[in-house]
Amino acid sequence: AGQSDDPAILFFSEEMNQRAKEHLRIESELRDALANGELMLYYQPKVSLRSGRIVGAEALLRWRHPVRGLVSPGVFIPVAEETGLITELGNWVVEEACRQIQQWREANVIMPPIAVNLSARQFDRGLPQRMAQALERYGVNPEQLMLEITESLLVRGAETVIAIMNELVAMGLALALDDFGTGYSSLAYLKKFPISTLKIDRAFVVGLPHEENDCAIARAIVTMGQQLRQEIVAEGVETMEQMDFLRGLGCDQLQGYLFSQPVPAADFERMLREGKRL
Ligand code: C2E
Ligand code: CA
Ligand code: CA
Ligand code: CA
Repeated sequence: AGQSDDPAILFFSEEMNQRAKEHLRIESELRDALANGELMLYYQPKVSLRSGRIVGAEALLRWRHPVRGLVSPGVFIPVAEETGLITELGNWVVEEACRQIQQWREANVIMPPIAVNLSARQFDRGLPQRMAQALERYGVNPEQLMLEITESLLVRGAETVIAIMNELVAMGLALALDDFGTGYSSLAYLKKFPISTLKIDRAFVVGLPHEENDCAIARAIVTMGQQLRQEIVAEGVETMEQMDFLRGLGCDQLQGYLFSQPVPAADFERMLREGKRL
């Protein structure tokens, strides 16, 4: 593309230039963050709607920047995905989760399964072996770990992805489908993948029980999951009304601020020890 005298285009490319600079800055700072130990995992409980007890947790990345404070993964994960740094970041997350699980086991804390998020870019032929190595290094039982993947992976579809998933499941790792409902997955399509849990995206939970469309979508997802004998987890549950509606549908678990925000490992451990209930 050549020069332009159109002020709109000049403005636009200046804005893109700013974005590119911002990305480069985040990328280089993120490399330092990995090396300097500025990354942490927070844990958000998943609660059974039947028993009210904590039956799992999701590990969520947190970046404690020395100057900017807590940086949201919503900001740095997309950059890491674009630059490919997500591979190293993802490996760190798996290692750190395994290290923490080992520490809890040594402290005799009875821990429900901990889920880590995997980006589609981490999902390659080498993944099962990397997972096996991390589990072995920390002596972690694969039943202690779950993997959350997103629908984009299914759309990429096909035999390779299914083969890798089957390998992971054969190792004893359970797979959860994250942000469900935001992409395109039909019932017929979904049953080809060895997925044990569906997570209803917060986008559909927000409008419960008042938005008719959200109610219809949530109901359809729960029905679909039940047909496929999958556990259904609702994300982003903030109100009692939402909880009651989801319980009425037959949803299995909830995760959201109503019960707890994501918290540091020590706080999650305390909730478990104290037997915090819904
Ligand atoms: P996600 O996997 O869908 O994670 C759920 C997000 O919803 C988390 O945001 C969580 O803090 C937030 N959340 C939970 N309950 C509520 C609620 O009741 N209300 C509201 N408003 N929000 C709630 P967080 O921690 O900022 O993470 C954002 C996204 O960043 C995650 O979405 C995930 O896509 C990505 N992410 C976080 N950690 C990792 C990681 O280790 N690896 C990868 N690849 N992605 C990660
Ligand atoms: Ca997730
Ligand atoms: Ca999610
Ligand atoms: Ca989400």
